[in-house]
Amino acid sequence: MDDSRDRELGMKSEITRRDFLNGVALTVGASMLPESMWSLTGDQNSTDYYPPAKTGLRGAHVGSFETAHDLRDGTFWDKAGKPLATGEEYDLVVVGGGISGLASGYYFQKAAGPNAKILILDNHDDFGGHAKRNEFHVGNRTILGYGGTYSIESPAPYSAEAKALITDLGIDVPSYPKYFDKNLYRSLNLSRHIFFDKETFGADKAVIDPHPMMGGEGDDDPAASSAWKAFLAEAPLSEGAKKDYRRLLTAKTDYLPGHTSADKKAKLARMSYADYLTGVVKVDKAIVKLYQTTPHPLFGVGIDAVSAQDAWGLGAPGFDGLKLDSSPGKGMNRDAIRNDEAEAFFFHFPDGNATIARLLVRKMIPAAIAGNSITDMITARADYAKLDEVASPVRIRLNSTVVKVAHVGSTDSAQQVEITYGNSGKAYTVRAKNCVLACWHVMIPYLCPELPQKQKDALESAAKVPLLYTNVVLNNWQSWQKMGASSFYAPGGYYMAAGLDLPVSIGDYHCAHDPKEPIVIHMVRTPCHPGLPARDQHKMGRYELFTTNWETLERNTRDQLARMLAPGGFDPARDIAAITVNRWPHGYAYEYNSLWDDFWLNGGVTPCEIARQPFGRIAIANADSGAYAYTDCAIDHAYRAVNELIGAKKMAAKA
Ligand SMILES: Cc1cc2nc3c(=O)[nH]c(=O)nc-3n(C[C@H](O)[C@H](O)[C@H](O)COP(=O)(O)OP(=O)(O)OC[C@H]3O[C@@H](n4cnc5c(N)ncnc54)[C@H](O)[C@@H]3O)c2cc1C
Repeated sequence: MDDSRDRELGMKSEITRRDFLNGVALTVGASMLPESMWSLTGDQNSTDYYPPAKTGLRGAHVGSFETAHDLRDGTFWDKAGKPLATGEEYDLVVVGGGISGLASGYYFQKAAGPNAKILILDNHDDFGGHAKRNEFHVGNRTILGYGGTYSIESPAPYSAEAKALITDLGIDVPSYPKYFDKNLYRSLNLSRHIFFDKETFGADKAVIDPHPMMGGEGDDDPAASSAWKAFLAEAPLSEGAKKDYRRLLTAKTDYLPGHTSADKKAKLARMSYADYLTGVVKVDKAIVKLYQTTPHPLFGVGIDAVSAQDAWGLGAPGFDGLKLDSSPGKGMNRDAIRNDEAEAFFFHFPDGNATIARLLVRKMIPAAIAGNSITDMITARADYAKLDEVASPVRIRLNSTVVKVAHVGSTDSAQQVEITYGNSGKAYTVRAKNCVLACWHVMIPYLCPELPQKQKDALESAAKVPLLYTNVVLNNWQSWQKMGASSFYAPGGYYMAAGLDLPVSIGDYHCAHDPKEPIVIHMVRTPCHPGLPARDQHKMGRYELFTTNWETLERNTRDQLARMLAPGGFDPARDIAAITVNRWPHGYAYEYNSLWDDFWLNGGVTPCEIARQPFGRIAIANADSGAYAYTDCAIDHAYRAVNELIGAKKMAAKA
């Protein structure tokens, strides 16, 4: 990219607290960081420690992953030296401060009583795991974004336990419509668009999406019926491709004649949607490209790695004439099975499910976040210095990567577990009667090498799905208004989707109503490598995320916005106020897939069932335990893990 284009994009302009070090760190390679840089994350007890307001590279931020990678590479112990015993003893130590870890603390405290001593350790500079808050301050406004988990939603209904936790936190899910301004974008004549890029489709062109699918909440396209005309006139597709697109969406052809519904589903479960479109429906290649990234937000892979049966379940076109009965077929992903009760259970906070994490923290450590309702929670500032106080029964210690978890004595008779963690390049130990590993399963074999090999193999198979969630604060959204766009699906873009913030106002927090006001927009990339098996695609994507430097991320973000919004007069150098890229190389829990996971299609014990077995005084939580990338899964497995410990140690009696 030449200098003049960089100037046009505003690469040299001042944006909110540009995080220079993030760029440098990634350019030189994280493993080459001097040890002192491990403490870049700061001291959580200092008065100016407030990670939600950091911009630049967040998610797996610099300082959060180096210890774990050193442990993986076998270099940690040489660097850290002999661990220092803190002398601290707890009833429970939780490894991982995501929803599952925080919920484990919550359930344990409920059972063991308010004086139970609990320590939660997390490697990030903020709690919440994937449920992270991005907070921006532009002029005199505070603007919130979700750095990861978007909302309370799940393809299957929340369990009784998960619902009870949500209710106990004060969240009244059915009250959501009163906070959500459903008609805002519609009243401004904004609708969903497709952005065709010149590299993939021969021209940069934004066109109304006549048939939005696979995702997108609350913004029904008002123009859907009339959009056809505009789409057919303007989309940079050949006449043949347009004809095929129409046929795909409207024809009632039985493309698999002579088979029963069950046989058809069995066939569809074994072929990708891309193969179905190409080989069975026989549409133009451009239409396959058009649909390629539609499942990215759900699965982190494209239609080459999603079964045709799942595509049918998700409402993709091309199945109407097959006359499939509506029951789920064998091997369907839970996301692809419609459930009306689950569909209705939806709540989006302006910072996503970071509000759930914050409510859990307030339950356990009231001094850390003032207030007593969900409305005051949205604008409440967390006091991080209160998270790890000696006098508090529950403590949360950030920037602390656990590197070893071992029983003190033999697994069968040990009374304690010793937990070793790295913080600022040094190793420390604490002891506890119980331990919940609510961290990523791939990490556990490194922490507990004494686990049975079969369990370690199962844990290792849970490698996560990489994602990039980027929040960009714009000084105004007049260019969106001019184009009549509320969101873009960009099948060939660096980001496959970008959209205006969901308009939710709660308590003193008010979303942007006027296009002249600043707003946060959300962009999604799921790096993957079409053609490879799903797990290999995720592995390549993870590598990409860890090796892409800040400058490239910033340039790609600015460039895509500039190109998509050019007809609306968008100027990236003028209109962008802040950028936060939430990098999640270890993102969604891997969900089983009928194309790659035989046990899922044909039955048998799933790896997550083997992986989550308790081991002495150690129980295993995290959403990986259910191979299901949803908040309720993280909660359900916290509940199970704590119950395993409580049952085993008769702690319930103390509740
Ligand atoms: C980008 C994104 C968007 C999502 N959107 C939604 C959504 O809209 N709705 C929904 O229901 N679900 C969503 N999910 C899934 C949902 O966020 C997760 O299922 C859930 O939050 C996982 O919680 P968890 O505690 O199991 O794991 P995590 O949130 O990953 O928390 C685990 C924590 O343990 C830490 N850890 C790992 N190893 C160690 C170690 N050795 N020492 C210390 N700490 C360690 C991790 O860094 C992490 O902070 C989303 C996930 C992602 C990634």
